[in-house]
Amino acid sequence: MKRFLLLLLATAAPAAENRDSIFQSSIEAMFPKLVEIRRDIHSHPELPNEEVRTSKLVADRLKELGFTDIKTGVAKHGVVAMLKGGQDGPCVAVRADMDALPVKELRSTPYRSQNPGVMHACGHDVHTTCALGVAELLSRHRELVKGSVKFLFQPAEEAMPATFKGDWGAKLMVAEGVMENPKPAAIFGLHTTAQVMPAGTTDDSVHYLKAGQVGYTPGIDNANSDRFHIVIKGKMAHGSAPHKGVDAIAVASEAVMALQMIKSRQTNTRQPLVISIGLIKGGDRENIIAERVEMGGTVRTYDAKFRDGIIEQMHRILKGITEAHGAGYEMEYRKTYPSIQNDLKLIASTLPAFRRVCGEKNVIELIPGMGGEDFSYFAQVVPGFYFRLGVANEEKGFIHGGHTPMYDCDEAAIKTGVAVMAAAVCDFLDSAAK
Ligand SMILES: [Zn+2]
Ligand SMILES: [Zn+2]
Repeated sequence: MKRFLLLLLATAAPAAENRDSIFQSSIEAMFPKLVEIRRDIHSHPELPNEEVRTSKLVADRLKELGFTDIKTGVAKHGVVAMLKGGQDGPCVAVRADMDALPVKELRSTPYRSQNPGVMHACGHDVHTTCALGVAELLSRHRELVKGSVKFLFQPAEEAMPATFKGDWGAKLMVAEGVMENPKPAAIFGLHTTAQVMPAGTTDDSVHYLKAGQVGYTPGIDNANSDRFHIVIKGKMAHGSAPHKGVDAIAVASEAVMALQMIKSRQTNTRQPLVISIGLIKGGDRENIIAERVEMGGTVRTYDAKFRDGIIEQMHRILKGITEAHGAGYEMEYRKTYPSIQNDLKLIASTLPAFRRVCGEKNVIELIPGMGGEDFSYFAQVVPGFYFRLGVANEEKGFIHGGHTPMYDCDEAAIKTGVAVMAAAVCDFLDSAAK
């Protein structure tokens, strides 16, 4: 038996390596078209829930590739497509998000945004391109796929305001049944990343995840990412007679400072926490005491119980401060995205594929960040692995972080993205077929 297992291992490894090299030459041939697709998507970015053009581009391309099982209009503009491999086997899912951000692009590349004030500043253009690349690659080599692959092209990953009604993005896709019929046995997702904190680093200096490299976190990948919207209610008065009113601006100022005390003085220092207020609006005129101030922000945590405690503390502070000054408040707190918990077994069984494709030293363990991502909704249904695709290239100036107007990716990373995702998917189906 032992001999048989050794023989099996000995034959399995070269098979995977052969497949990697077959894939590699196909990816080289596909690359110019993939760059064209990426630039097309990049220059036509669309905001969450407005991905009409991108979604059509994806569906049209899948039809060109010979896909027949394509569903459009999923969770508004999502696309779900099934690829049947050469052998029967389980189903595995690949997720790519498609939406862009309200950011004004400051680069002057030939493929810069043609949609003023909207930009692919989070690299979802590259995610979509990589998934289309995997779809093309596996449809060309169906005989090497021992099962089926479900492609989830997701709209609206970038979060909506706390006041937005209803669900969106991954959560809505799950609610609409994309994780059923067939239910995938696992799901993979990648995210372009330029700046990282590798495991073992303690300082805040910048480390780049370069094109050709991939990164992963062993477990928790990122934070519970929430949104809140607060209204402070005062009473209007003439600016020369503040005692006749309740100054909502003065009360809000105190509240902003006090909310920061939660992190510094009221919580366990070992629990990561971010409370940021990114929006504040109030008042009508220089000489009128403001009646109303609106504030909006985000809270990031790892632990769900700890997060509930923060919400209570926020209410206590807002209640205390507004009561002390005779004002009132309302807070709408929305638990937006749960933290991504990568599946440890799936990580362990996938890392050999990454190491084969990228080389041992180019697969880098990372420290989790405080960002949020709705891939977590898929990973709550089946084991998930969300990993980072390096896109930095210092010589070419691809060094900026996501959600900034200078963000851009070294397109060589698309080859790595397609290769690692295809290897991960095929390895998973191989092991399930044994
Ligand atoms: Zn983003
Ligand atoms: Zn993103």
